[in-house]
Amino acid sequence: TNDIGKVEPDYVRSFQFKKILMPSTWIVIRIDGCHFHRFSDVHEFVKPNDKQALNLMNACAVAVVKEFPDIVFSYGVSDEYSFVLKNDSHFYQRQASEIVSAIVSLFTSIYITKWKDFFHQKELKYPPYFDGRAVCYPSVEILRDYLAWRQVDCHINNQYNTCFWELVKSGKSKSEAQNFLKGTQTGDKEKLLKQFGIDYHKLPAMFRQGSSIFWDKEDITMMQEKEKPGGNSLKRVIVEHCNIIEPSFWAAHPTILY
Ligand code: ATP
Ligand code: ATP
Ligand code: MG
Ligand code: MG
Ligand code: MG
Ligand code: MG
Repeated sequence: TNDIGKVEPDYVRSFQFKKILMPSTWIVIRIDGCHFHRFSDVHEFVKPNDKQALNLMNACAVAVVKEFPDIVFSYGVSDEYSFVLKNDSHFYQRQASEIVSAIVSLFTSIYITKWKDFFHQKELKYPPYFDGRAVCYPSVEILRDYLAWRQVDCHINNQYNTCFWELVKSGKSKSEAQNFLKGTQTGDKEKLLKQFGIDYHKLPAMFRQGSSIFWDKEDITMMQEKEKPGGNSLKRVIVEHCNIIEPSFWAAHPTILY
C-alpha cells in the first residue's frame, strides 16, 4: 500500500524476528575487538602485552558490570570480554540482539571516552569497534567449562606470543619466528623462554591468567550489617587475575554463581 496512513502496524511488525535465549540457562555475551591486530599496531601497543590497553579493557568491563546488574561474572583477555548473566535473568526479556547490542555499544563508547585516561600521550587515531555474540549454557558446570576454555586460550596465546616477540627482539624476522615455533609444545616454549632469561610463571598474573570481574558480596553483607540499611554504595566490584579453572576459586567465592 502506498498510503502510509493505511499501513497496519501489526502487519509490518510481523516481519520482525525475535531470538529469545533459552530460559533458565546461563547467558554469556562475548565481545571481541574487530581488527585489533591492526588497531594495536596503529596505536603502538607494547608487544606482546600492553598493560594500559588491558587496564582500559578492564575499566570498560567494570563499568558494564556496574550498569547491568544481571551480569554476575566477567572474564577478559586481549581484546575480548565475556559477560555472564545469571540463569534467571529477564534482561530485555532474554532477547539476544537487544542484550548483545546494549553491552557491545556501552563497552565501545566507554572504551572511547576512557581512552585518554589510560593513554595520556597517545591520540585515538580512529574509532574502534567490537562485535558480540550470545551463547546459552545449561548448567554451572558447562559454564565453568566455557570460562576454563577462555582461560586456557589466554595461557596458550600468551605463551606463544611471549616466545614470538622474544624471538623477534633477538633479531629473527616475524616469519622466521613463526616457523621456529611451529609444532613446539608447552615444555619447549618454557625452555625457550628460560634461554631468554624469562621464567614464564613470574610474568604478571594479568598477562597469564586474564582478568576476572565480580561483586565482592561477602564484604557487602558485612558492611551493611555494620553501616545499617541503604549502604548499597559500599558494594565493590573486584578485578582479579586468578586461576578460574581450579575449583578452589569457585569454592572461595560461593555467591558468584549460586
Ligand atoms: P578479529 O576482527 O577477527 O577479532 P583481530 O585482529 O581483532 O581480528 P584477534 O584474534 O581478536 O584478532 O586478536 C586480537 C589481537 O589484538 C591480538 O592478536 C594482538 O595482536 C592485539 N592485542 C589486543 N590486545 C592487546 C594488548 N593488550 N597488547 C598487545 N596487543 C594486543
Ligand atoms: P528505551 O531505553 O526503552 O529505548 P528511551 O528513553 O530511549 O527508552 P524511546 O522510546 O527510545 O525511549 O524514545 C527516545 C526518547 O528520547 C524520546 O522520547 C525523547 O524523549 C528523547 N529524544 C530522542 N531524540 C531526541 C531529540 N532529538 N530531541 C529531543 N528528545 C529526544
Ligand atoms: Mg572476532
Ligand atoms: Mg579481535
Ligand atoms: Mg580477540
Ligand atoms: Mg530508546
